[in-house]
Amino acid sequence: MQQTMVIRTKTPEDKQKVIRAIQDKDSSSILDPEGNPVTLWIGTSLDMMTILDIEGVEDAVSSDALCYCRSGKERYPLSDARGIFCGYVCEDCEEEKRAMFRPEIFTDGNYIADEQIEEDY
Ligand SMILES: [Zn+2]
Repeated sequence: MQQTMVIRTKTPEDKQKVIRAIQDKDSSSILDPEGNPVTLWIGTSLDMMTILDIEGVEDAVSSDALCYCRSGKERYPLSDARGIFCGYVCEDCEEEKRAMFRPEIFTDGNYIADEQIEEDY
């Protein structure tokens, strides 16, 4: 069974080395070399330990834990001052996501809710 994960490497050269190493080990791996020069999305049947053992791999995370903005970083829930869930973010997109809300909802637990709160997440 294939799983999707994101691999980070130190340099773009390392990324090319890692791509070749993965293809050697599992030729059925689906590699998506687009995007960030040091980030690689792959679908592979290799397990995490095997991937982490490859020279040049800095870090690898299963995509189940990753942010939807495709930064390749782990996601965590963003909640307002009342503990209301506002969505998943990572360190790359948290600021952008927060900017979509009024700033006081993150600092003042007694803010006045004058908009409909979306309950069906
Ligand atoms: Zn993100």
